[in-house]
Amino acid sequence: MAATPIPLEAKGIKKRFGDHEVLKGISLQAQKGDVITLIGASGSGKSTFLRCMNLLEQPDEGELIVHNETIGFRATKHGREPADWKQVERIRAKLSMVFQNFNLWSHMTLLENVIEAPVHVLKKTRKQAIDEARALLDRVGLLDRADYFPTQMSGGQQQRGAIARALAMDPEVMLFDEPTSALDPELVGDVLKVMRDLADEGRTMILVTHEIAFARDVSSQVIYLHQGVVEEVGEPADVLDNPRSERLRQFLAPKH
Ligand code: ADP
Ligand code: MG
Repeated sequence: MAATPIPLEAKGIKKRFGDHEVLKGISLQAQKGDVITLIGASGSGKSTFLRCMNLLEQPDEGELIVHNETIGFRATKHGREPADWKQVERIRAKLSMVFQNFNLWSHMTLLENVIEAPVHVLKKTRKQAIDEARALLDRVGLLDRADYFPTQMSGGQQQRGAIARALAMDPEVMLFDEPTSALDPELVGDVLKVMRDLADEGRTMILVTHEIAFARDVSSQVIYLHQGVVEEVGEPADVLDNPRSERLRQFLAPKH
């Protein structure tokens, strides 16, 4: 019997911008249902790593394997680039990303945002996409906002809408880059609640967050990045409650 495919594996990812090596060989393996949380100071490379995983940036070195499919690269004089952009499209459809700043399309209603990719990428009928979108909006508590434009919604509603849009692709892995960092404090809880439900239902997730209590609750693994290197990795109880390095201790200390 074939082994269950691993949703996402990154091996030795390196990335530089000019002289600055931002990622110095980072690896992770997300098994089905894993919630992997990346923590680290601003500038440590968390966003760049997420962006490399769904090929918004091209890693200079290292390997990416999505659902047992290895991404092919070819060398050019500007560095590596994907060998097959069709493959990139296919991979991106499996890895939905939720950004800090919501990124809903401002000229579309919430419902139109959610059905866009299912209709144009997955080639679903409009009717089917709308039925599914309404069910997703109901799940994130936004069914009554389906016909609103993003500017007519709070940041928390926009972010829950962005999560519904990501879910509409039924992704193999969801990537979240500080999804609550731009929210007013009173709106954070509703977004974390939606994410906790996704974790509970067994979604594979890779998450960058500063919400340490949340990370402790939902993560199967925590990775502490420092200057593009994995400094500590393990279960939340090890990494968050028994940090080995003074640097991580400082990072986790309550801020005044
Ligand atoms: P984090 O998300 O952990 O705050 P980032 O991945 O955004 O860190 O950035 C890591 C480093 O890479 C920073 O020093 C940042 O300035 C640099 N960087 C990120 N993107 C680019 C880019 N497109 N061009 C040049 N430098 C970049
Ligand atoms: Mg970042």
